[in-house]
Parts: sequence; structure tokens; C-alpha cells
Amino acid sequence: MPPTAMMEWHGYEAIIICADSSKPKTDALHTLSLSLSQLLPTHNAGVRARFHEVLAAENMALSERVAVHAVQEGPVVVMEDGRCLPADEVVWCTDAGAAQWVAESGLAADSKGFMLLQDTLESCSHAGVFGCGDIAHVKNHPRPKAGVFAVRQGPPLLANLKRCLLGQSLRPFVPQKDFMGLISTGDKCAVLSRGTWALGGHSWLGRQLWVWKDQIDRKWMHMYSADAIPDMAAAAPAPSAVAVVAGGAALDAIAHVAMRCGGCGAKVGASVLSRVMARLQVPSRAEVLVGLDSPDDAAIVEPPPAGYVGVHTVDYFRSFVADPFVFGQVRSLTLSIPHHQPREGWDDLKML
Ligand SMILES: Cc1cc2nc3c(=O)[nH]c(=O)nc-3n(C[C@H](O)[C@H](O)[C@H](O)COP(=O)(O)OP(=O)(O)OC[C@H]3O[C@@H](n4cnc5c(N)ncnc54)[C@H](O)[C@@H]3O)c2cc1C
Repeated sequence: MPPTAMMEWHGYEAIIICADSSKPKTDALHTLSLSLSQLLPTHNAGVRARFHEVLAAENMALSERVAVHAVQEGPVVVMEDGRCLPADEVVWCTDAGAAQWVAESGLAADSKGFMLLQDTLESCSHAGVFGCGDIAHVKNHPRPKAGVFAVRQGPPLLANLKRCLLGQSLRPFVPQKDFMGLISTGDKCAVLSRGTWALGGHSWLGRQLWVWKDQIDRKWMHMYSADAIPDMAAAAPAPSAVAVVAGGAALDAIAHVAMRCGGCGAKVGASVLSRVMARLQVPSRAEVLVGLDSPDDAAIVEPPPAGYVGVHTVDYFRSFVADPFVFGQVRSLTLSIPHHQPREGWDDLKML
């Protein structure tokens, strides 16, 4: 579910919440240093004006356009203009940064190292490589790194991945221009920002906006709580027909085996599988050279561009260790890759 609003957690919010929790409040002087040109640069002047008021009320000094040069023992924050600010605590808040591997991979990247994309979400340098979300920068539609934009790129990305696989032409995606932001002032008030709108702050409306923001935040976080995650405990599988025929002793023996084979135990028996497959209405496609009409362990397809042949196989394994990382390592070692032939591809999709 996409977020219904953008709740910003910029350095501003982090600092002001720290400020709000320090006692006695009036004795505390907090410096908010911004290497950006101004406070909340992606919002309108009305929003900025409200937060300048809030900062003044919180006895916070704002140091715009002067970046932090270094933090020394003490701690002492050394500013680029040479000022040294002694501090009790220093809180670093940074913007989203690019993953190093993007530029190292040879993919086209913007000046900050984010993967550079066309409007179709395909890489500007490598056909068939797609991206979206925080890792990417769409050349013609730059937007802030926010979930609001990331989630909405999902459906057009999926559609273009399908089109790419089917050899169809890709479609451009134009993201929305602005978004609604509910920004906390740190003391149970909030400012609503959208386009040129600025509402709330330290006022009755600001308190109502905070209540709304709090409800949205809690609803969102609830989705990750134990209550909201479906119970994964499965009922014990029924014994196979063969075991039932073998009698009570066999059933008793099977019931006491802690774990049967992790590989074959995850698969459907050949006879059951054949009966199910016989009932399927399998459409035929020209690009499927070996498919369910002559079933084997793998399918052979000829996707575009012409001249390439791909061999596809899907394998299911149940987890036999609790650690998903170790399980992933084991599975990657079992990739059954036969000899490569020029202009032929083999892929083995492991379902864990
Ligand atoms: C504290 C905080 C609060 C935020 N609040 C909001 C908000 O209220 N509203 C809003 O719109 N946006 C918010 N954002 C921004 C939002 O979270 C991001 O824009 C959004 O999550 C980006 O989605 P994404 O899928 O591109 O990347 P991510 O959500 O970062 O997902 C990337 C995933 O890839 C994994 N990964 C990274 N490297 C590798 C690797 N080498 N191999 C395998 N996996 C890897 C990561 O572990 C991660 O799970 C917030 C961000 C932060 C940090």
C-alpha cells in the first residue's frame, strides 16, 4: 500500500526532537547546521517561515549555507567558516546516498552516483537493465528520495519488464510533480506542505495535523508488527497414499522422522504431478521450443532478440536451516548449470 502522505524525517526533525527532549529546555542551545542552501529546500517559503518560527521558539540557532568541516574530540564541531562549536552530543543526519557499486558497475550514474534512468526506468547506458526507487535518478524527472515516489514506480517498472521480455516497445512513466508532506515540529504539532500550501505549525490546526500524522505513522508501522503478519504455522502434511497403504507401522515411523529429504520432500510426486499437468490448458507460443507438450526438467524458449535460446528450470527447496543467509549460500552452491554454449543461456530459478 503506498503511503498516503510524505512524513519527512530530515535532519531538521531529528534535531528538533532532540531539542524538545533536553531539559531544562530554555538553557539548551542547539545548532542546526545545514550544508544545503536553506532549511527544507524542497518545500515552499511558507513552510520554511513556519519552521524558522519553531526554531526560534526552541532556542535553536540555525547555521545555513555553512557546512560542517570536521568533528574533533570533545566533541567540537568545526564549521567550514572556521568557527568551533563545542557540543554535548552531535547528531549526524544525512540525505540518501548512492550505493558504491552502481558507479563501479559501469552503469551510467548521475553526479552523486545514483543509477541514471530513462523515462522508461531503463538504464541510460545498458539496455535491459532497469531501476527504480532511492537507488535511481530519472534523468528527465528528478524527484526527492522518498517512498511516495519509490512505490509508484513499481507498477510501471513491472509493466516495462514484461514488455522488455516480450520484445515490445517500452512506455515512459511520468511521476507526479509534488506530494503532501506532514512534518513534525517535534512537540506534537505538524506542518502540512504541498506545492505552495503551508498549513499548521504551533497552532490548533498544527496539533490536529500532528494527530493525523501520528495515526498514519502508527497504521503504517502496525503493518510490520507481529499482529499484522499472518501466522505461518502450517498444519502437519497428510501422509501420502503410499504410506497409508503400507499400514500403521509405516505411518508411525514416518511421523517420528524429524525431517525427511529437504529436496525431494519439497516436491510433488511424479504420478500426482502428471495427473495435474494433464488437466492444464497449456497455451502454445511460437517462442517456446520445448514446453509442456514434451515436458522435461527444463523448458527451452527463444526470447527476443532472435538468435538467443534460453533454458529455464525452476527448483523448489524447503529450508533445512533456520538461518536464511546460510540457506541462500547452500542453495547458490547447488545451481545446476550445465555446459555453456555460445549464444545460449541457462537459468535456474531456485524457489526457497
Ligand atoms: C527514517 C526514515 C523515514 C522515512 N520516512 C518516510 C516517509 O514518511 N515517507 C516517505 O515517503 N518516505 C520516507 N522515507 C524514505 C523512504 O523510506 C525511501 O524513499 C524508500 O524506502 C525507498 O524505497 P526503495 O525500495 O528504493 O529502497 P529501500 O526501502 O531502501 O530498499 C532497498 C532494500 O535493498 C536492500 N539492499 C541494499 N543493498 C543490497 C544488496 N547489495 N544486496 C541485497 N539487498 C540489498 C536493503 O537492505 C533494503 O531492504 C524515510 C526514510 C528513512 C530512512
